[in-house]
Amino acid sequence: MNLIKLECPNCGSMLNVEDTLNTCFCTYCGTKIMMSGMSKDELDAKVKSEGINKAYRYFEKKLDHKHEIDLMREEMYKKQEQDSWKVGLILFVLITICMLILKFG
Ligand SMILES: [Zn+2]
Repeated sequence: MNLIKLECPNCGSMLNVEDTLNTCFCTYCGTKIMMSGMSKDELDAKVKSEGINKAYRYFEKKLDHKHEIDLMREEMYKKQEQDSWKVGLILFVLITICMLILKFG
């Protein structure tokens, strides 16, 4: 029986796993890791690719989130622009009325 060192694809913790086992669980986050019929190299590759996938998904999620924030910010700016336009119009109307009153009143 040998111990294989492998990285948990979920939390990245180093695990020592018996190479006779088909599955194991990460002692830190409890993720189930399948190892059936794989050599250490295959296992490393799998763990690595899963880690990359996870990092990629995380990055994608982050990008999505960033996009959402951008959209929200854009909407906020638009609203502010509309509001300031409204305020300007109201001021203009008020000043015009005042000038009319001063002139003819
Ligand atoms: Zn883990």
